[in-house]
Amino acid sequence: MNTSGFNPFEMAQAQFDSVADQLGLDQSVRDLLRNPLREYQFSIPIHMDDGTTKVFRGFRVQHNDARGPSKGGIRFHPAETIDTVRALSMWMTWKCAVVDIPLGGGKGGVICDPHNLSAKEQEQVCRTWVRQLAKNVGPLSDVPAPDVMTNAQHMLWMLDEYEHIHGGHFPGFITGKPVGMGGSLGRTEATGYGTVFTIREALKELGIRPSDTTASVQGFGNVAQYAIELYEQLGGKVICVSSWDQSDQKAYSFVKKEGVSLKDLQGITDRFGGIDKAKAAELGYDVLDGDIWIEQEVDILIPCALENQITGDTVKKISKKVKIVAEGANGPTTPAADKILAERNIFTIPDFLANAGGVTCSYFEQVQSNMNYFWEKDDVLSRLDLKMTSAFIAVSELARKRKLYMRDAAYVIAIDRVAQACRDRGWV
Ligand code: GLU
Repeated sequence: MNTSGFNPFEMAQAQFDSVADQLGLDQSVRDLLRNPLREYQFSIPIHMDDGTTKVFRGFRVQHNDARGPSKGGIRFHPAETIDTVRALSMWMTWKCAVVDIPLGGGKGGVICDPHNLSAKEQEQVCRTWVRQLAKNVGPLSDVPAPDVMTNAQHMLWMLDEYEHIHGGHFPGFITGKPVGMGGSLGRTEATGYGTVFTIREALKELGIRPSDTTASVQGFGNVAQYAIELYEQLGGKVICVSSWDQSDQKAYSFVKKEGVSLKDLQGITDRFGGIDKAKAAELGYDVLDGDIWIEQEVDILIPCALENQITGDTVKKISKKVKIVAEGANGPTTPAADKILAERNIFTIPDFLANAGGVTCSYFEQVQSNMNYFWEKDDVLSRLDLKMTSAFIAVSELARKRKLYMRDAAYVIAIDRVAQACRDRGWV
């Protein structure tokens, strides 16, 4: 989101430019890749339950589809901007390339707050979003998915609208569908679990046992909850989570030094990941300021909220004990903070690698939908582990060999693959 003058697209372009220099990319390739191929902006008029009509703003950006159909989520957020969607669509291109799945990058959004919309109103937002784009998206061109504040139900409404318009069944139009309606087992867990697969590999490389580590997590939505679940299964202890409080319009941190209880917290959390402060205090949590998550004396920080969270200011609060930052969120670290993480030798697992589990499982969902044959959950998760682990190893080997920061190594691999696809197609 665009807060305090922060522009995520400028940040994504700056990251790209610096790797383009290192790769010595031709000017034409740079010109093609530093901007989206296509973008759509449109209005979404909705008849509200109270009889009024409200007009929302919708977006879809297709950054690049040289390696396959554009792929990426749709988020509903009151602070959504076209530049946020542009940045996220570019990061999707790198994400699909770094895990080497045959998809490009796209992203969509609607400026709205689903907290304040009834189910009927949300359904209309979904259906109108699809109506506005019906000719520009599809299984062979651009495949949406869930993102911040969108879920399987939203995806099903969108699929239903698309199928009404085009006549027929097109399960490959969208991923993150409900299980039993073309969805894949493991999709809900995939992003958070994928982040922890990369943390497990980073710990191996550092020679640290997961059971000797502690972590602090920013956010308590879908990504955070499943990251905590798997990290705890590996023996790690989470001592702090933070979450957004809708009524106060600010974030709070929930600290328990002996370890948070995922089940207890899930029991007092709304469907958007907002934890009930009063109930948390009753359960013995210290309820503190939202920024406290970053100051915890832990081994691992896992930002799983939004962009622009580890900044030039907040990075100074990171404890000396922290060894790994695993970016479950997209774009949580600004370039100024990134420089400091690199100088401090913190092992950073960059967003488009750390959170690639979601889109990797989306790819599996498409494969299963196309075959109309659905895999067991263990099968999905072991394939996910394999993809995430091999992508992690390729990036960390390159980082070691060329003495690169992890983010730069991941960018080198991803940009190189996309640039090559553009050249092979004769685009540049
Ligand atoms: N929204 C998720 C992401 O940012 C998943 C995208 C997808 O599955 O297409 O990676």
